[in-house]
Amino acid sequence: MSVTKRLYLAGAALVIAAILLYTLAWPAWQQQLTGQESARLAQLQAAAKPAAAQQRLDHQQLLADLNWLAHPDRQGRKPGSRGGIEARNWLARQFAEIGLQPAGTDGYLQPFHVKQHFVFSRWLRGKTATVPAAENAANVLGLLPGLNPQLKPIVLTAHYDHLGVENGEVFAGADDNASGVATLLGLARYFSEHPLDHPLLFVALDAEEGGLQGAVALFKHQLLQPEQLAFNVNMDMLSRDTDQLLFAVGSYQQPWLSPLLHTLQQQSAVKIIAGHDRPWYRAGNTQDWTLSSDHGVFYQQQVPFIYFGVADHDDYHSVRDTAEKVDPDFYAQVSETILSFIQLLDQQFKHN
Ligand SMILES: [Zn+2]
Repeated sequence: MSVTKRLYLAGAALVIAAILLYTLAWPAWQQQLTGQESARLAQLQAAAKPAAAQQRLDHQQLLADLNWLAHPDRQGRKPGSRGGIEARNWLARQFAEIGLQPAGTDGYLQPFHVKQHFVFSRWLRGKTATVPAAENAANVLGLLPGLNPQLKPIVLTAHYDHLGVENGEVFAGADDNASGVATLLGLARYFSEHPLDHPLLFVALDAEEGGLQGAVALFKHQLLQPEQLAFNVNMDMLSRDTDQLLFAVGSYQQPWLSPLLHTLQQQSAVKIIAGHDRPWYRAGNTQDWTLSSDHGVFYQQQVPFIYFGVADHDDYHSVRDTAEKVDPDFYAQVSETILSFIQLLDQQFKHN
């Protein structure tokens, strides 16, 4: 047998071995990791001890704002649609009434174009989507100065867009993500009366669904510089969960967040679970949400981040994600929890 032939045979044997390993050992390994991660999450859930309920935010106002955004008249707030534009103009008016400073490129707005593209990603929670082009998308940005002008702003984000209307049916997007945007407004109202050391930049993002394009536009057009930001808190889906769990994503990448989350639990009336941020080689088939919403873009830009959100429910991305399904008490306490987190963060980063 010639040397070349031997080499070919050895190569073929290697390929066959790799295929066998992949088909036999890989699923078992992934299954083992998934099991370990499920056990870890169950342990966290059992250990989490909710504290007493709080009321610093106006809970009625939170629900009223959520209802306005998720109303069928908004037509699912697709980027560039009539309902989307209505929602954005309304948000700019709310920011003005609260007294936030315009921080877009055109007053409160940062207009941008959505490019049509096809998206499939397991990080988008297994979503497959064709994102239609929209000429007329826009983020809404308002700044609240802090007490210490030396500090970099903490950026609070929540996307206001959703899936629009399909076959005559409105995708109201109440949990996803009228809930996050109503909380964004609630926090702006609260902190305008109780300012922190840090400036707070409130950002209602467009065109999250499918491609995180609103968050990308913040950096692509250099409205924001990553090194000039202290932190990103992203809120996406806050208003319902059968197990009353709130996930906090980001402590795997940033372990210094863990003690902060521990302190947060002592002030929070919901169970906070640090999870859905571990890669496949740590957590198997457990979903990794590191890039699942707009915080993913901040992460890629190396801005420290946290994402707060609930687990997917049966009504996720369906016409059944309506305002009646919201759990008012859970939603109010999730919002209070995020308020507490921002206060803790403000103290933690007192010097930068
Ligand atoms: Zn969302």
